[in-house]
Amino acid sequence: MPLKTEDEPTFFVDAMLGNIARKLRLLGYDSQYFFNIDDEKLIDSAQKEKRIIISKDEELIKKAQKLGIRSIHITKKEELEQFFEIINDVNLKRIQINGNTARCPKCNSLIESVDKEIIKEKIPQGVLKLNDKFWRCKCCSQVYWEGTHIKNLQEFVGKVNERLQ
Ligand SMILES: [Zn+2]
Repeated sequence: MPLKTEDEPTFFVDAMLGNIARKLRLLGYDSQYFFNIDDEKLIDSAQKEKRIIISKDEELIKKAQKLGIRSIHITKKEELEQFFEIINDVNLKRIQINGNTARCPKCNSLIESVDKEIIKEKIPQGVLKLNDKFWRCKCCSQVYWEGTHIKNLQEFVGKVNERLQ
């Protein structure tokens, strides 16, 4: 079972907002995708799992809110603006990248720090030479390092925090 603190928000994110879901995961927030799912079923699961629904679908959001399910309607096009639509609604205490709390952007499971030696067979030589810190998903075994993905996210996180000050 993934570790979860009581007051930490978890999400159901519309698959159309994949970039947002991947960012939330890297920041450590448990975020499940949904697509092609019946509104009623989704709302039901959100209620059971206490997840906040994030979607562009206005009708779904209205339905959910009517039933008292927390949900966030995304109306903006730009990613940073979309992220702020979430932040304005939910108190995200942790807007920073931390290898100990990050989740796999691919499958939402927890990742763990892993020794270079263990994964060297799976990683291109050039990457091995340039990086010392590696993480691996506990579930899908995807390996991550401070390459493009993290750098892009760091930039994004920088912009978010600048605006929050
Ligand atoms: Zn994974």
